[in-house]
Amino acid sequence: MAIATINPATGETVKEFPADDAAAIDRKIGEAEAAFQALKSTTFAQRAEWMRASADLIEKEADDTARILTLEMGKPLAQAKGEVLKCAKNLRFYADHAESFLADEPLADPSTVGASRAYARYQPLGVVLAVMPWNYALWQVIRFAAPALMAGNTGVLKHASNVPQAALYLDTIFERGGFPVGSFRALLIGSREVKSVIEDRRVKAVTLTGSEGAGRSVAAIAGDQIKKSVMELGGSDPFIVMPSADLEAAATTAVKARVQNNGQSCIAAKRFLVHAQVYDAFAQLFADKMNALVVGDPMDEKTDVGPVATESGRSDLAELVDDAVAKGATILAGGGAVDGPGWFYQPTLLTDLTDEMRIVMEETFGPVASLYKVADRDEAIRIANQTTFGLSSAVWTNDADEEAAFIRDLDAGAVFINGMTISYPELPFGGIKDSGFGRELAAEGIREFCNVKTVWKA
Ligand code: NAP
Repeated sequence: MAIATINPATGETVKEFPADDAAAIDRKIGEAEAAFQALKSTTFAQRAEWMRASADLIEKEADDTARILTLEMGKPLAQAKGEVLKCAKNLRFYADHAESFLADEPLADPSTVGASRAYARYQPLGVVLAVMPWNYALWQVIRFAAPALMAGNTGVLKHASNVPQAALYLDTIFERGGFPVGSFRALLIGSREVKSVIEDRRVKAVTLTGSEGAGRSVAAIAGDQIKKSVMELGGSDPFIVMPSADLEAAATTAVKARVQNNGQSCIAAKRFLVHAQVYDAFAQLFADKMNALVVGDPMDEKTDVGPVATESGRSDLAELVDDAVAKGATILAGGGAVDGPGWFYQPTLLTDLTDEMRIVMEETFGPVASLYKVADRDEAIRIANQTTFGLSSAVWTNDADEEAAFIRDLDAGAVFINGMTISYPELPFGGIKDSGFGRELAAEGIREFCNVKTVWKA
């Protein structure tokens, strides 16, 4: 795949970028390794100062950076600006908390292990490779990079091939904030070159956010190399609505949870499981709100839903919808691509879904929602858990027993009650099953790429 900015709102190639050759890759990994040797002996206070300076730059440059994100992958401009500012917030969060997250953890009673003192110390591993997706081209990278650098690691980035300008921006931001040269380097490479980077002895670990297929491949290489990996993969999150829910609020949130980022979020709600008692009323509200969305130029502030980011992404989405409709699904809103230039797809709501339809098990990466009628709580949980994914989930209920049962029984990395899944710097983020392993954000995220060194003293 060419490394290029292709505007998904028009289909035009804006700019192509030559790929790094072997010598450039070697040089960049070498710079990241040299930066690690410098960074590992700096104090948290020093790194926090550089991190805050980087956050200042991100905030100052937010308008221009947001336009890059919208140009390269098509998200509405206001959402792009929100993403950029959230990145600055994450930098400040780790600047403030890294030291306490990674403080020595002493054993309360060291005599139980025959010691006068015993504790765990968190130390950085070295250069970590980040293989990242285009859908949150800044946020996905920053949520790895901020804790990694605060821990004293350095990074090399293999970004998605369709967001090279975002990648090159990320290549500069930490250095301009004051971090040693090479602390975070973008490699302009295709996915085939990832294997040799993981195999490089200077690279100590890898994190990947992306599709299940990419995750399987990268995790296998990392496993073969006995290198630590974190996998943040796809999802097909359920959004459950029970009779006690506030239906109007649930429907408004359902639409937002499905179409934000043009429907291309791993934690977007994708399957809507609605109790039979409130199904008809909810379906009507949901369909009306999907039909009212404005689809168009993502640079226009009136736009709710921009294009799908790639041509192949739109055809994959259309195939899933067409397969379901051919097998008997009913369309309550949308149902097809928008004619004209760019890769737009109508906000779509489907119901009457049956198990032989691909959409029941596969991830829909675009503004397409699947609606199911469920008889009771048990059926909601059964359908919620039937996919191979387990990223997040949302439940709308005002019944305390029901709430407790959903929290206990949903197979997912998170449960959001009466809301939609959002990632916050303060909360751990990650999935189970085919959605991956490991956690990002919060204290858990910064500890992933640390050696937990046990210290025992007689
Ligand atoms: P993707 O095709 O898997 O690409 C992600 C990254 O992996 C890109 O940099 C890509 O490079 C690279 N890549 C692809 N195949 C590879 C391989 N075999 N070996 C090494 N690297 C490989 O995913 P995407 O289409 O960009 O993103 C959408 C997917 O990401 C969805 O499934 C979504 O749910 C998931 N996602 C998950 C999270 C999470 O936190 N769990 C967050 C966001 C997105 P190229 O661009 O050069 O192919």
